[in-house]
Amino acid sequence: MEAPQPTDPGEQKLESLPGIGVARAKKLRELGLNSLRDLLEYFPKRYQFEAEEGAIQDLEPDQIHTVRGQIVAVDYNTSGAKARFQATLDDGENRLALTWFGGAYLRGKLTPGMHVRVRGKVNFFRELPQMVNAKWEVVDDDLKEISQAKLRPIYGASAGIASEAIEKAIGAALDASKDQFEEIFDRSLLDKNRMIGRREAFEKIHRPRNNAEAYAARRRMVYDELMLLQIGLQVARRSSAGRLSAPVVRVDRLLDERIRKRFPFSLTGAQEKAAFEIVRDMKSGRAMNRLLQGDVGSGKTAVALYAMLVGVANKLQSAMLAPTEVLAEQHYLSLTNFLKDSGVRIELFTQRTKRGGKAMLESLREGEIHIAVGTQALLQRDVDFANLGLVVIDEQHRLGVRQRAHLREKGLSPHYLVMTATPIPRTLALSYFADFDVTTINELPPGRAAIETHWIRKPGAPRAWELINQEVQAGHQAFVVVPRIEGDGLTDEVRSLDVVYEQLRDGPLKSLRVAELHGRMSPEEKQDVMNRFRAREIDVLCATTVIEVGVDIPNATVMVIESADQFGLAQLHQLRGRVGRDAHRSYCMLISDAPTAESVKRLEAMVNTDDGFELAEEDLRQRGPGDFFGTRQSGLPDLKIADLGQELEMLKIARQDAGELLERDPELRQENHRALRTELLRRFGETLGLGGIG
Ligand code: ADP
Ligand code: MG
Repeated sequence: MEAPQPTDPGEQKLESLPGIGVARAKKLRELGLNSLRDLLEYFPKRYQFEAEEGAIQDLEPDQIHTVRGQIVAVDYNTSGAKARFQATLDDGENRLALTWFGGAYLRGKLTPGMHVRVRGKVNFFRELPQMVNAKWEVVDDDLKEISQAKLRPIYGASAGIASEAIEKAIGAALDASKDQFEEIFDRSLLDKNRMIGRREAFEKIHRPRNNAEAYAARRRMVYDELMLLQIGLQVARRSSAGRLSAPVVRVDRLLDERIRKRFPFSLTGAQEKAAFEIVRDMKSGRAMNRLLQGDVGSGKTAVALYAMLVGVANKLQSAMLAPTEVLAEQHYLSLTNFLKDSGVRIELFTQRTKRGGKAMLESLREGEIHIAVGTQALLQRDVDFANLGLVVIDEQHRLGVRQRAHLREKGLSPHYLVMTATPIPRTLALSYFADFDVTTINELPPGRAAIETHWIRKPGAPRAWELINQEVQAGHQAFVVVPRIEGDGLTDEVRSLDVVYEQLRDGPLKSLRVAELHGRMSPEEKQDVMNRFRAREIDVLCATTVIEVGVDIPNATVMVIESADQFGLAQLHQLRGRVGRDAHRSYCMLISDAPTAESVKRLEAMVNTDDGFELAEEDLRQRGPGDFFGTRQSGLPDLKIADLGQELEMLKIARQDAGELLERDPELRQENHRALRTELLRRFGETLGLGGIG
């Protein structure tokens, strides 16, 4: 028989901690806190200086004071109009009267002999100081000096539970876990970085006596978080890229020339460099794991096609995945265009084509289809490839961990090329994307006119409609993007597609051909609209963000965004990238009355720069990494304390230390890394597939 698994003390339920009852545990759960560990990792948002304590003889009327002393008498009095609980506090020299109206709950709780601290507004009654309904807490008189002017942690609270109650619960958790929290790093490593111990850091981040302690504790916590992330990513990278072998391709000059003939343009220098790096990866025998980042319109598709054709020439199939069916269909169209009159067979696999697609699945399995384009559904279980060698992922940032694992189960280890138009800020590239090699396309194809961006208030909207009319007269097309499909009937603050579409069609854009496009339309309808827009049978496309990424209509020159404050910066930049894809002068009109200070910043940033990198950094500063293009969806853990917008220096240290640690002990087998391994598995075991250190 197997011995029962030792239970993880961190998993201890909240109710089992002293002082946390069922009701409080429920409130804590509403904040997402379920276990002792959750509590301890619920870090303070900031600290506040506790007011200094004063002596009773110094109290002044109508001022808020804090006083410490011993309760010498209590009384519960129901005789007057209002029931009240009264107590007398003695600070050793003078006495203070305390009154709580309706204070029945204090009976038996506040008793003579107790040492407490009270805080409240002072008034004088017959020359005697008193406080009514003061806040109070029990204090340990031995710690009198320590608790003078102590720093009070402030936690993210909810309507149901106040910061102070959370503080108490965390105090209980700290007391209950005195011997847990084994150290996870070697003393020498900690000394090198002048870090305090882990257990001490947990204690001091929640109960610091001064700023220096709080700072040292936070610094250690940030280090741990970034170290664990770096180690996790580096291990995962080694198990996915380093150890997995992948098909080896051969490329000679002839092949290179043949591929280039497919493009009606010559590659830009940046595209050249990207193609070179990709080919080098695909030749190496190890699985490529490359992130290709380049601003909207920088020509990533051509680079991807280059890679796929290298695959085809080496008898390898490629899959190209887009986030939506609309985009998959568009990729299919533009690739087909490049591949006209070639022997390469490319097919589109979407909901629609899959339904009647038994024969196509068969062709894929037989290897007759060279390039398959679709959404992530393409990698589902019932789809088999003869020899999948390359997976290109557009605008997804990461292929789901599950899909990768699934491919691995099938015995496939293709090369991966991930493309993104949202430049990854350096801190994120060093952390979440540490398991990728990065290629940046920092150059746009020649002959692109700049995009003029204007922010106009709602009353100025007619300017945008005039502009659309003018541009359409001149033979161009336009987009109008709206944040939501339907209004909620309550307010027209945030514009909705149903309203905007009708208003424009019957009003300012009456003489133009206007159509709508949104996510609730069927794939057939969407495709039909896109085809007509591409064929210039539609002048203005009124749409939701279904067109956010990748839609390529070079003839479109105006992008109007309604209620622009409703969008994030990355999204706005993506939307703007739908125009200016040719040599025509293009315009982006942001309509918004900008209700918040943050939205003002976003809109101003949009007007001031069209550099995607700058905007991405700004976005990270404003939103934090958790939200930044949905790392949450990618299955990666959110950081609890490290702020990637600020933490570049520490990130570099952690990256370096993690690398050195893994060099000495690649599988974390050494006894001194046992606790570290446990912690890593607990954090990322599933998400990163850390088989290597299991
Ligand atoms: P993105 O990087 O946003 O995916 P695309 O690959 O869609 O960009 O390219 C944008 C447009 O630029 C397309 O119409 C494409 O055909 C064109 N293009 C790509 N590379 C070049 C180049 N080297 N020279 C001229 N035009 C190019
Ligand atoms: Mg693209």
